[in-house]
Formats: sequence, C-alpha cells, structure tokens
Amino acid sequence: MSHIQLDRDRCEGHGLCEDAAPEIYRLDDDCELELLVDEVSPELRSKAEAGARVCPVAALRVVS
Ligand code: SF4
Repeated sequence: MSHIQLDRDRCEGHGLCEDAAPEIYRLDDDCELELLVDEVSPELRSKAEAGARVCPVAALRVVS
C-alpha cells in the first residue's frame, strides 16, 4: 500500500487535487485539505498521483 504525504505549510488550498481526485482529496469549509484515505490502494494510486501532479506548489507526494 502507498500513502500520501501532505506538506500543510505549502498547501494553499487551491483545490486542484480535489478536482482531479475527489475520492481522495477534499477541502473543508476553511480550505484545509483533508485526506479521505489513510492508505492508497493500488486501484487508487493513479488517481492519487494525478492529484499530486496538478498541485501548483508541490505539497503532495505519493510514496510507497
Ligand atoms: S492542489 Fe496543492 S495547494 Fe491546492 S489544495 Fe491540493 S495540496 Fe493544497
């Protein structure tokens, strides 16, 4: 299983990750990013990576 590292100091709440993979990333009402999964299954990995790729401030990493 993989997991997602979120650098909260970098995240600016743009929400592009949520647009790419709403089943994994969600912005709450205060524009704080929530990760909806603790571990990324193989089926979700490409979606998790798609969300990480579109982040303009490189706040997300999917690691094994
Ligand atoms: S795209 Fe990047 S900056 Fe925007 S909410 Fe997602 S992690 Fe944060």
